[in-house]
Amino acid sequence: MHNQLLEIAKEYGSPLYVYDSETIIGQHQRLTKAFSKVKNLRLNYAVKALSNISILKLFNSLGSGIDTVSIQEVQLGLKAGFKPENIIYTPNGVSLEEIEKVSKLGVQINIDNLSILEQFGTKHPNIPVCIRINPHVMAGGNTNISVGHIDSKFGISIHQIPLILRTVENTKMTINGIHMHTGSDILDIDVFLYASEILFETAKNFDNLDFIDFGSGFKVPYKEGDIETNIEELGKKLSKRFNEFCKDYGKDLTLAFEPGKFLVSEAGVFLAKVNVVKQTTSTVFAQIDSGFNHLIRPMLYGSQHEIINISNPKGRERFYSVVGYICETDTFANNRRISEINEGDVLCFKNAGAYCYSMASNYNSRYRPAEVLVHKGKAQLIRKRETFDDILHNQVEITF
Ligand SMILES: *Cc1c(COP(=O)(O)O)cnc(C)c1O
Repeated sequence: MHNQLLEIAKEYGSPLYVYDSETIIGQHQRLTKAFSKVKNLRLNYAVKALSNISILKLFNSLGSGIDTVSIQEVQLGLKAGFKPENIIYTPNGVSLEEIEKVSKLGVQINIDNLSILEQFGTKHPNIPVCIRINPHVMAGGNTNISVGHIDSKFGISIHQIPLILRTVENTKMTINGIHMHTGSDILDIDVFLYASEILFETAKNFDNLDFIDFGSGFKVPYKEGDIETNIEELGKKLSKRFNEFCKDYGKDLTLAFEPGKFLVSEAGVFLAKVNVVKQTTSTVFAQIDSGFNHLIRPMLYGSQHEIINISNPKGRERFYSVVGYICETDTFANNRRISEINEGDVLCFKNAGAYCYSMASNYNSRYRPAEVLVHKGKAQLIRKRETFDDILHNQVEITF
């Protein structure tokens, strides 16, 4: 594996994102299997985690749907071959105009505030919509990534159900789905199940449901000892409860999920080359040919991506602070034990499939990296490295 990655880095240059289709397919199968007792299961891959069109096509080939948060993601999905009915659109704070445009494309709309619900229902009472509920449950994680709590901007508060019902009655609109997304890190299955009960309770208020969407937030391990959502146990418990609910409800509803991280995080690595090893009075820096312009999660969320020196994997371990080349503090890892690093070595950052390339920028006027997908053992370029033309693209030069 390390050797293949080194070969790929040699061929396509650095910095570089490399994804492995087998891991994606494996995670997709794992989730499908965990919920095999549910008659109608719908997995909608959250596009924002990794939105390369070839990755979307891979998900389409697996029979997956997609979860989108912008009209551009919807357009990408359509271009990748997804049927509109296999796309759900879950925006937050987006204009009515954009929501109407997406709806015209035949995509399922998910509405997350009362103002838009009333306006949309008044203008389009015949288009069924899903509503995003905020159950005010924090399913673990830190405050950056837990979106179910009371101050969250996401969803319609569970305490506003009476007003939702009144709006539905007044506009004669149809609610065909109930949705929640409690945050990006479910540490505790019981917390998730607790939130699900709130969703079931809410669902009883609506007679025309087709599906209940439990969002995502499944946790994957980043470093040794990290907790991972026990999908198999969640599958067992939630499937049973869901099937009971469907019986009471009198209809086989669809159980939907929209995982991003779970499906692609572990499938990706980020490869960067060490430009400089710099010893200071207090530490040894390994400076790579990248920065938070390519991988911002460590700085934005404090994410600890495991780092392996694939040029010297068996070398003696030493302590390093791994930093970038951006004129800004861009620390990837502090005081990390890594096999001895020499200038020119290639470092491999793990868990780089989700929210890495999709959050990359051109800060410092640097090119965004290339992306490679390894499928059936073969490495294929799925995004070219940017060039100077990309930096200038859309810039308008005026004369003075
Ligand atoms: C980002 C997002 C997801 C995916 O979350 P993960 O933690 O990557 O699984 C799912 N649903 C919605 C509405 C989102 O915004």
